[in-house]
Amino acid sequence: MTTPSLLKLRNISYSYHTLHGETKVLDALSLEIREGEFVAIVGPSGCGKSTLLSIIAGLLKPEDGTIVVNNPDGSLRYPRIGYMLQRDHLFEWRSVYQNVILGLEIQHMLTPDRLEKVDQMLSDYGLANFKEKRPSELSGGMKQRAALIRTLALDPQLLLLDEPFSALDYQTRLSVSNDICNLIRRTGKTVVLITHDLSEAIALADRVIVLGKRPATVKCALDIHLTTGGDTSALSARNAPEFQEYLNRLWEEIRHET
Ligand code: ADP
Ligand code: MG
Repeated sequence: MTTPSLLKLRNISYSYHTLHGETKVLDALSLEIREGEFVAIVGPSGCGKSTLLSIIAGLLKPEDGTIVVNNPDGSLRYPRIGYMLQRDHLFEWRSVYQNVILGLEIQHMLTPDRLEKVDQMLSDYGLANFKEKRPSELSGGMKQRAALIRTLALDPQLLLLDEPFSALDYQTRLSVSNDICNLIRRTGKTVVLITHDLSEAIALADRVIVLGKRPATVKCALDIHLTTGGDTSALSARNAPEFQEYLNRLWEEIRHET
């Protein structure tokens, strides 16, 4: 049995209109996001990845096309969205704790059971002793964990990650991206990760969707199955026997696009 799709985008088009004219960014783009899967979307810089994510988030309205919602509970309610951006966006004048409860505070959702979940995550993610620190006192990886807790505190159904690791240097990025994605996997949430890093996409995702250059359409989608023997370390996926083959195939798809 195939997993049902949470969202289906059909023939989505989008253009930006500025004083200098019209930029068509998405052209009849179709894709589906299945419940519980971890999808990575890759594509050349400027092709429309962030625009696509904003459309999935409901922040931008497509000028053409439809989005079909298929909630597991049968309702037509749009899934609750969690958004993580390139920078962790923690506020320096607030403690780590005040940062991770910020979303709940803004949404007037500071209930005892939600705060209990936050405490549980702080302790599960190794931040319990850093609650009263300022963000600048944390390592890059800890900041990303704090940003993740803040996002998960709102109990989103669909997590959207827009190049969340690209501000980190390469080695930090390898371990932080792996760490954060392992934590996210344990929650069983549906995830869409935008990245321009093909290796990262293959290492982290169940499925990789490749977009062509602007105006973007889907060039191909590849299911990823890596043999890692249950090892979840940062390099295990990259050392899997299938890794290079996937990388070659994605590279073939994308190299004509830049
Ligand atoms: P990506 O995330 O793949 O790098 P974006 O979705 O951010 O691409 O942008 C796609 C294209 O749309 C780019 O050419 C960008 O310059 C243009 N663009 C993005 N945001 C705006 C905006 N608010 N107004 C006008 N043009 C925009
Ligand atoms: Mg972008």
